[in-house]
Amino acid sequence: MIRDVMDTHTHTLASGHAYSTIRENAAAAAKKGLQLLAITEHAPRMVGSSQAIYFQNLKVIDRHAFDVELMMGVELNILDDKGTVDLTEGTLRQMDLAIASLHIPCITPGSREYNTQACLNAIKNPFVHILGHPDDPRYPLDYRAIVQGAKKYGAILELNESSLRPEGSRKNARPQDEEMLRLCMEYEVPVVIGSDAHVDTDVGRHDLAHALLEELGFPEKLIINTSAEKLKYAVRKKSGQ
Ligand SMILES: [Zn+2]
Ligand SMILES: [Zn+2]
Repeated sequence: MIRDVMDTHTHTLASGHAYSTIRENAAAAAKKGLQLLAITEHAPRMVGSSQAIYFQNLKVIDRHAFDVELMMGVELNILDDKGTVDLTEGTLRQMDLAIASLHIPCITPGSREYNTQACLNAIKNPFVHILGHPDDPRYPLDYRAIVQGAKKYGAILELNESSLRPEGSRKNARPQDEEMLRLCMEYEVPVVIGSDAHVDTDVGRHDLAHALLEELGFPEKLIINTSAEKLKYAVRKKSGQ
């Protein structure tokens, strides 16, 4: 059994196509016994999501709810092969956590080299901590380069529960996850499991990710979810604080 104290990837109503509130997500996390919950709304280029001003006013949110520590973050859209993302550095400095991901409405899939460069340049950004769902078969990636890049830049690679679910929007993600995880073991690169919940009942749901990690014999020391301090240390180190 993997000790898992956090969910680093969840959405609320503010994302435009998710259905619960911050407090509903926090209550669900508390019910599952999590210590830490990240709220990571889609950044402005995702259709229907919040504008930059939403991300600039997060100071008003109490970082504790129902005995759960909250991190207020963002899921950025990677926009091109230069790794451009859709919030400014000034705004990103105010975030507790930033994931960067490839999403169909925001970047057209390119060649393996193009997609890989897009991801590598995004995780080079000191204010991007996690590469979100790097398992989407619509965006072929050079996984050895991605894992080596994550190691070089101190970024965390995500194992996304939603990608593994048959009803999820990323079909056939598992082979890519397996390849990435094997390379993470080889290079000793940490991963984080995120539910990518768009409704409170999915918060902290990590069953398929746990099963895959156990099947591969993935070492606990490389799983960020086992300790809140591991995540905070990685975030501090990445952003140079
Ligand atoms: Zn996403
Ligand atoms: Zn997401």
